[in-house]
Amino acid sequence: MEKRVYPVNLQIKVMLLFLLLGLMPLGVVSFFSIRTAEGLIMRSVTSHLEDVATDKASLLGRWILERKADLQVVAGSSVLKSMDAERMAPYLDLVRQNYAVYESLMVFSPDGRVVFSTPPGADSIEAAECLQPSESEPLILSDIELEPRRRKSVFRISVPVPGNDGNTAGIVCATVGTEAILSMILKVSLGETGECYLVNREGTFLAHKEPDRILAENIALSESFRNIFNGGNRGATYIDYRGIEVLGALKRVEGTEWTVVVEQDRDEAFRIVDRLKRYILLVIVFSVGSAFMPAWLFSYYVVNPVRRLSMAAECLARGEFEKALVKTDRSDEIGTLYNAFGDMARQLQARQHSFERAVTLREAELKETDVRLKKTQLAAARSEQLAALGRLAAGVAHEIRTPLTSLKLFLESVESEIEISPEYVEDFRVAMDQIGRMEATINRFLDYAKPRDPILSRIEVGQLVHDAMLIVKPRARQQETSVHVDVPEGLPLLLGDRRQLGEVLLNLLVNALEAAAAGGSIHIAASLHHEETGNEAQEFVRIDVRDEGPGIAAEDLPRLFDPFFTTKRTGTGLGLSIAYSAVKRHGGRMTARSVPGSGTTFSVLIPVSLTGAMEMETDGKNTYS
Ligand code: ADP
Repeated sequence: MEKRVYPVNLQIKVMLLFLLLGLMPLGVVSFFSIRTAEGLIMRSVTSHLEDVATDKASLLGRWILERKADLQVVAGSSVLKSMDAERMAPYLDLVRQNYAVYESLMVFSPDGRVVFSTPPGADSIEAAECLQPSESEPLILSDIELEPRRRKSVFRISVPVPGNDGNTAGIVCATVGTEAILSMILKVSLGETGECYLVNREGTFLAHKEPDRILAENIALSESFRNIFNGGNRGATYIDYRGIEVLGALKRVEGTEWTVVVEQDRDEAFRIVDRLKRYILLVIVFSVGSAFMPAWLFSYYVVNPVRRLSMAAECLARGEFEKALVKTDRSDEIGTLYNAFGDMARQLQARQHSFERAVTLREAELKETDVRLKKTQLAAARSEQLAALGRLAAGVAHEIRTPLTSLKLFLESVESEIEISPEYVEDFRVAMDQIGRMEATINRFLDYAKPRDPILSRIEVGQLVHDAMLIVKPRARQQETSVHVDVPEGLPLLLGDRRQLGEVLLNLLVNALEAAAAGGSIHIAASLHHEETGNEAQEFVRIDVRDEGPGIAAEDLPRLFDPFFTTKRTGTGLGLSIAYSAVKRHGGRMTARSVPGSGTTFSVLIPVSLTGAMEMETDGKNTYS
């Protein structure tokens, strides 16, 4: 069976439908779940980051405030107001020891000269780093920076020392070590990637878990900076100074230009969402896989049977009935469809067979008709030839008859006028007989070639047979052949030419006598014969002439009624031919049956239907063609 290609077959459509039905709700739910989870996580992480930033900023702010307060207390003390280095030394050393965060404390005179510094030697290194407070900005806080030896990060606070006269007596500058507080601030528990750092308003790192970045790197060009200082979107991810997508929060440290930034890697924050996405993807893949199962089931139970049915229909269209007889054990609708289709195929097959038989029969009939037609054509051609031959022969016979008649008349006149010597009387008589025989033959032939018009009369069959018997009886007796006549009473009258029909019967009887052996017998039987052709019924008077002679060879039977066909040495071959034509002219037919060695039967059938129609006609006056 030819394999058919289906561009988008039912199976694929069903699969797509199942996928659509299964995946659409799943897709919608997944989409909203992910969106919701992302929103939740974003909010929760952002809020957590903000809390951390706020905590860290406030912790740092409070600590710086404490340091400022410390210095203001120190600056307001009477020891410092005296600007006496010797008095200051024990006090400031004490302060430095009690507050471990002060790396150095220095006191400057208003003109910038170092009055005192602890530890000793700090002045030479750090005096230049101290900022000068002014009236407008009495307390100056420096940025956090690495101390010159780059071992620690520090910032400086400069506070004016108020004099007793109300003027500035000097300046106290403290270098504050930030290590302890910053390490506390920078330490955050934000997963593996979360970090907290401090930047100034230019974006330079003031504190960072990696000391190398402090004051060395700037985040001004990164999205972190824009997000921090240029009002970035809260709850939006951005690319930080390391090029990593992060979520972040910031908080300005009160009383400073510093900002605490807390950031966490977006991937880490959203790890749970990513896991959710992976699960959803797995579910989708599983759904796609499981969509094949109903598709396969549908294909097995519906698509395949339908496909097989469609192929069977194609086979049916091609006339391959055996292939179209599909079978199934199913008892559902598909089974019913198969059974109905199978019944239809069987009926079509039966009908096709009966058509084929009818066609074969018609073909045989056509062949037979063709053979008959050819035979008829041959017979017509032969008749044509015979007719031409007959015309020629008739011409010749006519030409011979005239001088023959003259010869006969001459001999008759000679006989009457001259006495013929006795030794020639016998020869003369033989000559006259031969001339008479020739004349009779020529006349018979001319009668056949151009038959005279029939003279119709009502003929009684018994009489017709009786007349013929009168002529043949002497010869029968002579050759000791018995003739049996069987003509029943009550046969209808025949309408026909008495002479022609008499000659027909006579011819058959003469032939039968010639065929019958000495001591044999001849049978003449007449009967009423009934025939039905289609809706028409017809009655015939049938006369059979049967002899028990040698019979006729099978190959001679078809030519029996042809003119000039004879097997006799002195025969003319015209007797049966003339008889056949005469019977035909009466609307009847003549047949011969013979079994070589057992005899021959000639049958003449004359229709009786004309009898009634012609009953009122006068004898001898009606002619028909
Ligand atoms: P003819 O008798 O002159 O030969 P017919 O036409 O009467 O011409 O007969 C033609 C031929 O038919 C005969 O030569 C003969 O061979 C055959 N024939 C006719 N009647 C019989 C018969 N009863 N038995 C055998 N042969 C017959």
